[in-house]
Amino acid sequence: MTVRAGREFLATPGPTTMPDEVLRAMHRPALDIYSEQMVNLTDGLLCDLSKLFATKSRPYIYIANGHGAWEAVLSNVLSRGDKVLVLESGLFARAWGNAASAMGAEVEVLKGDSRRAVQPEEVETRLRADTPHTIKAILVAQVDTASGVVNDIEAIGKAVRAAGHPALYMVDTVASLGCMPFEMDRWGVDVAMSGSQKGMMTPPGLSFVAANERARAAHRSAGMRTPYWDWTERDGAEHYHRYAGTAPVHLLFALRQAIDTLFEEGLTNAFRRHQLLAEAVRRAVTTWGEGGVLGLNIAEPCQRSNTVTAVLVGSGYDPAKLQQYCNEKCGLVLGIGIGDLQGLSFRIAHMGHVNAPMILGTLGVIEVALNALRIPHGKGGTEAAITYLGGAVSA
Ligand SMILES: *Cc1c(COP(=O)(O)O)cnc(C)c1O
Repeated sequence: MTVRAGREFLATPGPTTMPDEVLRAMHRPALDIYSEQMVNLTDGLLCDLSKLFATKSRPYIYIANGHGAWEAVLSNVLSRGDKVLVLESGLFARAWGNAASAMGAEVEVLKGDSRRAVQPEEVETRLRADTPHTIKAILVAQVDTASGVVNDIEAIGKAVRAAGHPALYMVDTVASLGCMPFEMDRWGVDVAMSGSQKGMMTPPGLSFVAANERARAAHRSAGMRTPYWDWTERDGAEHYHRYAGTAPVHLLFALRQAIDTLFEEGLTNAFRRHQLLAEAVRRAVTTWGEGGVLGLNIAEPCQRSNTVTAVLVGSGYDPAKLQQYCNEKCGLVLGIGIGDLQGLSFRIAHMGHVNAPMILGTLGVIEVALNALRIPHGKGGTEAAITYLGGAVSA
């Protein structure tokens, strides 16, 4: 017996649930890619992406996922043999560093762990020690989707400047853009990248990169440049240069609608919605944790991301079984544990097109699974989330 009929619900940190209006926006004929309508569509999106990154710089849209945008960033500013400093706080900055290494950069990892955020003081100390300025770029993820940590990008930016180090500060916002504040220019970020399929509520397949003047200066002498990713090529006179070929017309219509939806809600409201729903999830997990088996992965409350929560599962209990029950019996797809937390955790995504019924439904189903699988847990987790929202979302 199952209770999974109807639409499967994705609580995975990418791809995420898309609003119906985003799906509908793609149901149309393709555009003439040389038409004025196409040019206007691109110009409007580039302008709005600048707003989302909070930068005066003009961004680039790639037909690629986040891994593609990582490569776009690296290839545009680095040369083989350049040194890159990866700020570890889970899986994703390290994976970005692995790409850099495969492309011929020398990669140093500033050791962190998957239960806490990057410490800005450690970044400053490491950069001060690099007196010959051999480090050319610093890679960090605002939210590490594996650990559920949020790094303080503003504070790390201050640490970089306090060290007086000229390395480019490059930030991955794949799991945070549109969900949490990000201020590229104000925080001293030189290059920011993101993707379409998480907080941006758009199908997988688009990614975004914004680069400031310092990054463009490095670009001029970068030796890893290749034609498809190259910023100079994409700045070319013709519209088709923007995409280095055929525009991803339908994905652009979807993105247009997603950004319209987001701006209609207002970024401040969207950030607050994410914060409220994330806190509801954390209240539930904390209550379940009273059973001695489950717990929040990130120890420090202010370092917990508002877009994804990694839940640790104590030894003797298999997160894969919980996940399988939620999926096969109830139609809820949870994120699996990845990186250091593989086999030790599951993840609840709460980013993008999420609302109270989706989150409370998700928590409710997890609680059903905890009961069915006899996993010890404090009673009333979903109730704690309900009580919290009832108090925090005023009438
Ligand atoms: C998902 C994710 C990526 C990778 O994006 P893909 O589109 O899967 O290539 C990179 N960084 C972060 C923080 C992510 O969450």
